Amino acid sequence: MAPKNRAERSLAKQAAMLSRRIPCPYVAGDTVFIWNGTEKRNTGEFMRYDRKRNRVFVTGRMIVKHMVKGDPSTQKPGGEVSTEMGIHVSNTALHCPHCSQPTQLRRRAEKSLNPELGRPEKSVTWVCRRCGAAVSRNRKA
Ligand SMILES: [Zn+2]
Repeated sequence: MAPKNRAERSLAKQAAMLSRRIPCPYVAGDTVFIWNGTEKRNTGEFMRYDRKRNRVFVTGRMIVKHMVKGDPSTQKPGGEVSTEMGIHVSNTALHCPHCSQPTQLRRRAEKSLNPELGRPEKSVTWVCRRCGAAVSRNRKA
């Protein structure tokens, strides 16, 4: 059944976004480009990824403010606290460090001779779709 009104359409969209788990396309140190929303066409450093909700947290982007109650017994200050909100991964793209444009990565398989084993070895590098420069995908770095 097609959604009748704005509220139903919004719920249907949310359900569709939650039904599919998208693996995190970013690694630590990546710059994320935002396509849509209030932070449209802005970039920021990748902070963390919410795997359940497919949301990317970008440092300094999508900041929300909320009031926090202080606690006098523990000297905890109350007041306004700013935190980042998650952005759906489909509204973001990787910002290429070489051509400074939002991009997608392509696999490039290369054969090289391993001198220790004495036979050719396959290795995969990730390259920018736009400029073809290799982009590091090392998750430990
Ligand atoms: Zn590029």
